[in-house]
This record gives sequence, structure tokens and C-alpha cells, in this order.
Amino acid sequence: MTLVDTPATATGGPALAQERRLVTAIPGPRSQELLARKASAVAAGVGHTLPISVVAAGGGVVVDADGNSLIDLGSGIAVTGVGNSAPRVVEAVTAQLNAFTHTCFTVAPYEGYVAVAEKLNELTPGDHVKRTALFNSGAEAVENAVKIARHYTKKQAVVAFDHAYHGRTNLTMGLTAKNQPYKNGFGPFAPEIYRAPLSYPFRDGGLDGREAAARAILGIEKQIGAENLAAIIIEPIQGEGGFIVPAPGFLAALVEWATANDVVFIADEVQTGFARTGAWFASEHEGIVPDLIVTAKGIAGGLPLSAVTGRAEIMDAAQVGGLGGTYTGSPLACAAALATIETYAEDGLVERAKEIGSVLIGRLNALRTADARIGDVRGRGAMVAIELVDPETGAPDAALTGKVAKYAHEQGVILLTCGTYGNVIRFLPPLTISDELLIEGLGVVAEGLKQA
Ligand SMILES: *Cc1c(COP(=O)(O)O)cnc(C)c1O
Repeated sequence: MTLVDTPATATGGPALAQERRLVTAIPGPRSQELLARKASAVAAGVGHTLPISVVAAGGGVVVDADGNSLIDLGSGIAVTGVGNSAPRVVEAVTAQLNAFTHTCFTVAPYEGYVAVAEKLNELTPGDHVKRTALFNSGAEAVENAVKIARHYTKKQAVVAFDHAYHGRTNLTMGLTAKNQPYKNGFGPFAPEIYRAPLSYPFRDGGLDGREAAARAILGIEKQIGAENLAAIIIEPIQGEGGFIVPAPGFLAALVEWATANDVVFIADEVQTGFARTGAWFASEHEGIVPDLIVTAKGIAGGLPLSAVTGRAEIMDAAQVGGLGGTYTGSPLACAAALATIETYAEDGLVERAKEIGSVLIGRLNALRTADARIGDVRGRGAMVAIELVDPETGAPDAALTGKVAKYAHEQGVILLTCGTYGNVIRFLPPLTISDELLIEGLGVVAEGLKQA
């Protein structure tokens, strides 16, 4: 048994040298050592995108055990919006660690949980009376949003959309659209889940938002019936499905129909939430007020926490004891969330996300002008993607996407892909990244496209 000897670089946070630095090939020898141990100790189904062994991270970089410093364009999948080991988060969690680590909120409550609920009630769209319940993961919160909507409406059916991603638990696998790798072999899935067509401007032949919504609603009315439908769940900008921004008016039309038909409208803002899109929540860009909003990822600076926030009458429908869990709203995660939310607000990170968006969109559009394989550039704020296609036919080019990502990884850039067709490169940098690092990272992607 080998013990990890912690290198001198193990202090993370924003003070870490903000540079791309390759001192070995990736993976270097120490990373290879860990990956060999991973292969013999960790279940094969738990994959990894980067073949590295992380020892520190902060600002806009991730440092591996060989001393390589990689530019972070992924934020651990939109989690570390405030950066890794953000100072306020470290301080708050350290203080909480020294006070108490766990009581179970549903056994003996504490202030942190209530304060997070108050913050979410205040920050989420709409000025109606709200309540919040906290959970651990995005999937767990999605499941609870569906539980709550069913209890409130006394109906059972749930509509999710093409290209949706809502998690990997049984109910959320059912809501998720993509078979490989998320669902294949893991059925049977939960009943009473139906799929509706999305608005996907790059691929749906120019339907505008209202037309795309009318198409979805017609299908829902004919195949399910509003009288059976408890909830519609949708990501305001799809994440894993390919950073698909629906045409303007699509979401508003769905909300309008849901409200008129006693159907709970659930916005899954697990990936889009918390400053990421240049607003606190992506729903704001479309002027919609969801009945329930599900948050997680960017909420707590990397500590596991998720939430369902929504209209008091809906949230209060479930019986006492019906919602909760041993660890839900852990005091450590709540301390982290309060410090994280303070950091977004005090450090102007909503504005920063917009600036990052201008850099991303500007540079990527310039690339697209010169390279017809970039079929589409889309997104909002620091949530932007390019869709790679065959320039002749428009067919998705997953092979090219894989090559570009592999090149970036070897050159010290953490770059993520996504999309139903595996042909989307997504940019989700921490909001603490410098313009210099961001531009350097984009330069590596451009070079990868050139070489592929
Ligand atoms: C990541 C994600 C989830 C699942 O969250 P987990 O914390 O991984 O369970 C749900 N919905 C969306 C939109 C996501 O991006």
C-alpha cells in the first residue's frame, strides 16, 4: 500500500501560480501510478476525462501530482464558479468543521440550513412566497422536485425533453434522454415519464420559440393529457445535451401553458444556476418564473449540496417527514454555500460571467468564420459551446470533437465535450479565471482544430 506523499504545491486557491505549465507529458509518471491504482480499485463504470492525479486547484488552474498546471475550462462541470478552495469558502467550512460536523437537520436543526433556504428564496426568480428544501446532489433534488409536484397536483405524469439530462438515479435516468452511457443496461426505468420535442434552433429547421412550444404542447395534450400531468421539467439551457439554448419565447410559452393547466413547471438549473450564464439564474434571461427551481453544482464551491426552491403552496404540500435524508443540507455544505453566494455577490461574478461570455463568443465566432466545421457557437455568459459538423452535410462530427479534446488535454487544458451526438465542445471556466488564461486555453483549442 502506497501513501500519497503530498507535494509542496498542495495548497490550492487563487494564490496558486496562474499559468499553464507542462513539466511532463500528460499523464506524467505519478498520474500514471494513480490511474493504475484506480483501474484495480475503482469500478470501471466510474470514468475520467483527464488522465491526471490532482493535488491542488484554484483561480483558473488545476495542478497534478507531476507538477503540471492545467488551464481549467470545466470547473469540475460547472461546480467551482467561485474557483477551487475559494478563500471565503475555506474559512467558513473550517469554522464549521471546528463547531460541529453533523446533527441531521431533521433531528436537530441548525442555522446554516435555514440561512441557505432564506438566501435561495430571495435570489431565485419571482417575488412570491417561497420555501426551500436542501439535498445532496442534483439528481436527488430533481427526484424531490418531482415528488413534490406529484403530491401537490395529485397527478403522476412527468414530461422531460429531447436531449435532457437530469441525473443518474433511477427516476432521473428515466428523465435523461441519452442512452449511452447514462441509461444503457440500467433499466427498467420509472413509469409515467414522457418525452417532448425541444426547441433546438441549429437543428429544428427554423421553428421559432412559440412554434416549437406549440409542437411540444400538442404532443403533450394528445399523448398524455394535462389532467394526468404533474410536471414539466426542463433545463433553461441544456447542459449535457449540448448547451442548447431554446429559441426566444419557447420557455415562456411552456410556462404559460403549465400555469393554465395546473401543471408544475420545474426549471432544472443545476448546471445553469449561480451566476454561470451572466445572471443568477438562466430563467431570468427568458423572463420566466418557474414554479420550482432545482439547483446544485455551482451552489457551494465544490461541497455537495442541492436544493429545490419554489412556491410555498407547492413546497408545503408534502407531509412532515416526506422530505429529507440523513445528510441533506449538511452543515459543512451550508457554510460553504453561504460563503459561495457571498463571493458571487461581493466579487461581481455575475458581471464577470458576462465578460467571460464576450471573450468566448467573440473568439469562437472568429474561429467559426474561418472554419466551416464549427457549425454553431451558442450559449450565455460563461456557458458557451461550439457544435462541430461535417461542413458539407451538417452531420455531427464526434470524431473531430474527440480529437480536439484529446489534443487540449495533452497540451494542459481541461476541456469538456457534450451533446447527444457527442459533437459539442463546452466551455465552463471558473469565473475566477483571468482573461489571459482563458485566451491561452482558447488558443490551444484553435490549434487542436487546426491539427485535427
Ligand atoms: C449535473 C446535472 C444533474 C445531476 O446532478 P448530480 O449532482 O450529478 O446528481 C441534473 N441536472 C442537470 C441539468 C445537470 O447538469
